[in-house]
Formats: sequence, structure tokens, C-alpha cells
Amino acid sequence: KTFEDCGFAPQIMGAIKKQGYEKPTSIQCQALPVVLSGRDIIGIAKTGSGKTAAFVLPMIVHIMDQPELQKEEGPIGVICAPTRELAHQIYLEAKKFAKAYGIRVSAVYGGMSKLEQFKELKAGCEIVVATPGRLIDMLKMKALAMLRATYLVLDEADRMFDLGFEPQVRSIVGQIRPDRQTLLFSATMPRKVEKLAREILSDPIRVTV
Ligand code: AMP
Repeated sequence: KTFEDCGFAPQIMGAIKKQGYEKPTSIQCQALPVVLSGRDIIGIAKTGSGKTAAFVLPMIVHIMDQPELQKEEGPIGVICAPTRELAHQIYLEAKKFAKAYGIRVSAVYGGMSKLEQFKELKAGCEIVVATPGRLIDMLKMKALAMLRATYLVLDEADRMFDLGFEPQVRSIVGQIRPDRQTLLFSATMPRKVEKLAREILSDPIRVTV
């Protein structure tokens, strides 16, 4: 299978090839057609599987497909990850692809100045990559609005729960419009994560690698 088989428009193929990605990984083969069709997804996959590109690439397409949203403010794509390190890696991967399309990516996690992050978010972005606690802080400070957020990714959901972020994750999801597309990735599916998935995803497709 090729990226073209997954349904990517020619305009995004340049960015994919530029990264040296010749063909999709197993999780990408399974997830990309589902996500590009607009469906919700549960992806059971670990780091190293290529899961980041599986949610970042369709996010770029989603943003480019929604010119009417450009008038509003705040991120269109929201990605939550358990740790600073993972959030930073996702941020770098998203930036690689977003740059060519003039899509702005902001990272929001602990260990960075809140004032600097506040200013960056105020300047505007289309994608925000965040750890749950710091994103809640920024929402409380009204650094960003979730009015145009229509594509939500919860990455390593099991680890977010292990680290005690369930209330923050639920609060964030509750602030994003229900007609969003939601993607949940997790290495394992403990009962608590299964329950969250049932509550916040609509008719999801499940893929496993
Ligand atoms: P991840 O599991 O998302 O952390 O990705 C693991 C590594 O694989 C990252 O360095 C990606 O840049 C790389 N990668 C992701 N998809 C592909 C692909 N289709 N071909 C080659 N490398 C890839």
C-alpha cells in the first residue's frame, strides 16, 4: 500500500516524500483511510509505530479542508499527550509537516514560562500540542478559545490516566464542540480508558498493530 492508496491529495504528498517517508507503516495503513474519511478512531499502538504521523497528517488535511474556520480564533487541532517529552516530539513532527502549508503549531507544557506560552497562544495557532494540566491553565487564563477546535487527539491515553490526568482530560474534552472528530491512541486499553472511549468517541473504528 502507498500513501496515495490511503487517499492523500497530491498537495500533501510533497511534504510526506520530503520527510523520506516512502510508504506507510502498519498503523498508518490501517488508520489513515479511516481518519481521512472523518471517522473517530481507537488506535492501539506504541511509540515507534509511526502513530504520530497517523494523526498529524490527516490533521493537516482537516485544517486545509476547512477554510471557513480560518475566520475564527484558537486551534483547530488539539493534541493531548501525557508528558513534556512526548508533547515536544509530537510538536516537532507536526511542525515538519505544517510549515509548508502556513499552519502554525504551538506547544503547551510544564517547564516553559506561562507568560511566554500565553503570548504565543494569543498570537494564534491552528494546532496546539499540550500536556493536560498546562492546557487547563492556559484555558483558565483565556490564552486560547476552543471555538474552532474540531479535531481532537488523545495520545497515550493509558499513560495520561496512569499519571492521574483523567479529570483534566475530561475537562478538556468537555470544552470542545461535540461535532468534532476524535482520535484516541493507547498502548493498552484498561477499563477506565475503554469507558472514556465509549463516552467521548462516536461510533469509532478500532485498529490494532
Ligand atoms: P512514532 O511512533 O510516531 O513516534 O514514529 C517513530 C519514527 O518513525 C519517527 O521518527 C517518525 O518520523 C518515523 N516515521 C513515521 N512514519 C514513517 C514512515 N511512513 N516511513 C518512515 N519513517 C516514519
